[in-house]
Amino acid sequence: MGQLKEAIEEDPSQTTSNLANRKASNMTSRASQTYLHVWNKPSASDHRRVGCDQQLFFFHPLSPGSVFWYPKGAHIYNKLIDFIRNEYRKRGYKEVITPNMCNCKLWQTSGHWEHYCDHMFKFKLDNEQFGLKPMNCPGHCLMYSHEPHTYNQLPIRIADFGVLHRNEMSGSLTGLTRVRRFQQDDAHIFCRKDQIGDEIRGCLEFLTYCYEVVFGFTFKLNLATRPEKFLGEISAWNEAEAALNVALDDCGKPWELKEGDGAFYGPKIDITIKDSLGRNHQCATIQLDFQLPQRFDLSYFDENGEKQRPVIIHRAILGSVERMIAILAESCGGKWPFWLSPRQAKIIAIHESVNPYAREVKNSLYGKGFEVEFDECCSDTLAKQIRKAAQAQFNFILVVGPKEMRNGTVNVRTRENEVIPSAIYPICHL
Ligand SMILES: [Zn+2]
Repeated sequence: MGQLKEAIEEDPSQTTSNLANRKASNMTSRASQTYLHVWNKPSASDHRRVGCDQQLFFFHPLSPGSVFWYPKGAHIYNKLIDFIRNEYRKRGYKEVITPNMCNCKLWQTSGHWEHYCDHMFKFKLDNEQFGLKPMNCPGHCLMYSHEPHTYNQLPIRIADFGVLHRNEMSGSLTGLTRVRRFQQDDAHIFCRKDQIGDEIRGCLEFLTYCYEVVFGFTFKLNLATRPEKFLGEISAWNEAEAALNVALDDCGKPWELKEGDGAFYGPKIDITIKDSLGRNHQCATIQLDFQLPQRFDLSYFDENGEKQRPVIIHRAILGSVERMIAILAESCGGKWPFWLSPRQAKIIAIHESVNPYAREVKNSLYGKGFEVEFDECCSDTLAKQIRKAAQAQFNFILVVGPKEMRNGTVNVRTRENEVIPSAIYPICHL
């Protein structure tokens, strides 16, 4: 099914590497070896290098394609999820938790089985075939259909950070950009046809806030419309495309029309982000779906008590959390913004006589939820401690000595080793 093929995003690093290999094969042997060495060597900002240098995550041959997140990496992972979760509260989404394994009849109903079963992890249970979920939508359809709905209960916005598994070929696994186990900030909106425009507007506003305001990315929008082979009635497509068109105009961003490029089950908005290094990534998706509601026989009762079919909007902002961490790590070169940083502050005591005060500062900040460290037994010189803290990408270095202890303050430096003159904070205010 097109939806699934599209869900497996193109892996830019894989594509780049293939290009490099093709180019190298046209060179003489020695030249090609040098070329490949330079091309394939992880640069300082490669997310795999950042992950290793900063002790964020690692992979192990006993579970290929699944990430082991160290505490520092798990901190970033959870912060991203917390951020989206917080937005959900403001934007009328309700979070749910759905099973990781299901009887494969679920995907036979959704239609995924026919096209996607080779990419699923399957096993026998009580003589029936079960599988690990590769996407959340079918489970959300079961959830919607479990209770009757009326027109005034819609839209229903269901969010799920559930763990997904996809059986990617072992040769295609590349760092965090293509993995077998991942989580998405996935949500499905069940709405009436007349609500499509408002819902799409809401998704675009959510997207703009996250990408532009919070992450500092720019992005491009494309509207992909009805292909030659399509499901449903032309009038429903026309109505939906017109609603998407208006929502795109309203969001005030330039967008392009990709005629005939929609999935057979509904039109969609493709979003390509540009990171601070000018590279393009496809993470977010906003897709309309006329098919799943039909396959699961979903309905709601209208004003006259008649059964009507809802529409589903599939949407994700971050996409795969793993992949978004790779993009963020590379675009910030491991210099995490303060809110995401697993190393927000390092406390350095200029003399061991002030250790009790440094410990007090550390405990106070840690208690307030900051990621702060203090190495009590460090024997390095002050200059070396400051240099190491800056290299470790602590956002702030808080130096304390007898004067700071006396005044109940800290002396603040940035990781660029700039002393912030006005930032001598009384600790009681932190
Ligand atoms: Zn979906």
